[in-house]
Amino acid sequence: MARYTGSVCKLCRREGQKLFLKGKRCHSEKCAIERRNYPPGQHGLARARRRRLSDYALQLREKQKVRRIYGLQEAQFRKVFAQASREKGITGDNLIVALETRLDNVVYRLGFAPSRRAARQLVRHRHILVEGETVDIPSYQVRPGMVIAVKPSSRELPLVMEAVESRAGDGMLSWLQADHKRMTGSIVEKPGRADIPLAVQEQLIVELYSK
Ligand code: SF4
Repeated sequence: MARYTGSVCKLCRREGQKLFLKGKRCHSEKCAIERRNYPPGQHGLARARRRRLSDYALQLREKQKVRRIYGLQEAQFRKVFAQASREKGITGDNLIVALETRLDNVVYRLGFAPSRRAARQLVRHRHILVEGETVDIPSYQVRPGMVIAVKPSSRELPLVMEAVESRAGDGMLSWLQADHKRMTGSIVEKPGRADIPLAVQEQLIVELYSK
């Protein structure tokens, strides 16, 4: 399936909540959800008024929401889920932790990119180092202690500089540490589900895929 290239704000409106796909704009009054919180399209408002979703539809929407937040295609998402279900522990928790420890997400959480989408571009375009080596695979799983850095030659990219400036003073998640002057960071310890601020019900996804 081809990657979605339309307006990302439509994805938020489809899910009825902010998915924070656009960086700075998501925190401003220009956010589309602030102005039109109903599904896109000619009949979006009418559909929202009649909305009563079946269990299946709720599960499907939750899966789509998580997939869109992390910018994964269906096949990639299925693969992460399959891996999560093979691991010990609660599948839903494993799924969210696996998504959070992807390299593109870690770059975003460390504040080197304004959105996960921008972080994925940075990784793909070879601006990111892991343990001193270029890694251009967004799904690369970052382990605790690995040092993630923006390449010295990429540190003055406007996208990186603006992201770092706009995050200055913001707190870092407890399981991450970043040095914004050196543009480096790492995972201090593997996060648990409770350490990840993500308002989703992953159990619904587990139920969907268990059918
Ligand atoms: Fe979603 Fe951000 Fe667009 Fe708001 S501005 S609708 S949060 S992508």
